[in-house]
Amino acid sequence: MNINFDKSQDGLVPVIIQDDRTLQVLMLGYMNEEALEKTRQEGIVTFFSRSKNRLWTKGEESGNFLTVKSINVDCDQDTILIKAVPKDIVCHTGSFSCFGNKDSKGFLYELEDKISRRIDEKTEGSYTYSLYQRGINKMVQKVGEEAVELVIEAKDNNDNLFKNEAADLLYHFLILLKAKNFSLQDIEEILISRNR
Ligand code: AMP
Ligand code: ZN
Ligand code: ZN
Ligand code: ZN
Repeated sequence: MNINFDKSQDGLVPVIIQDDRTLQVLMLGYMNEEALEKTRQEGIVTFFSRSKNRLWTKGEESGNFLTVKSINVDCDQDTILIKAVPKDIVCHTGSFSCFGNKDSKGFLYELEDKISRRIDEKTEGSYTYSLYQRGINKMVQKVGEEAVELVIEAKDNNDNLFKNEAADLLYHFLILLKAKNFSLQDIEEILISRNR
């Protein structure tokens, strides 16, 4: 994968940063060859800042680093697309991305994230964490129960109850995935591969 830095007058190419989990566009920056090399080596995003006129590792002050998941170059080698996982908010104005707040299309991924944090941080008083603590048998039992409830509601004519049981099942399914150390993306990849 080669980028043509000579194409631009100043040796800088635009870099689009996309959230690896939700595909939300997070920010746009510029890189010179050195910034790209550093980014590749460290696995966290370093730009060349035009205002600071130096290499700028995103998060160097705030701690909100961007962890690189993949680097791609566009069709004519003059723009870079980086999929990354942001540690926290990306924009210095306080909004999640430089183009606004979290994208609601990625809500399931946000929920997955929240479930993950509740469990990793052992949040007292959280239903998610307390269910997790009760062990894998209890978690699979809950998934089974919610699935049965969904089946029952599917046979009735109450749309509201049906949708609520579907939501219960999805939520408990996400907890089970986390407990088994898998992510929603792992499952999505299987579905995508079946569709090719
Ligand atoms: P950070 O790299 O997050 O530690 O922020 C350091 C400085 O970089 C901030 O004070 C801003 O001047 C600038 N900055 C941080 N994030 C952004 C961003 N997403 N877009 C433009 N400038 C930023
Ligand atoms: Zn191009
Ligand atoms: Zn911004
Ligand atoms: Zn239920």
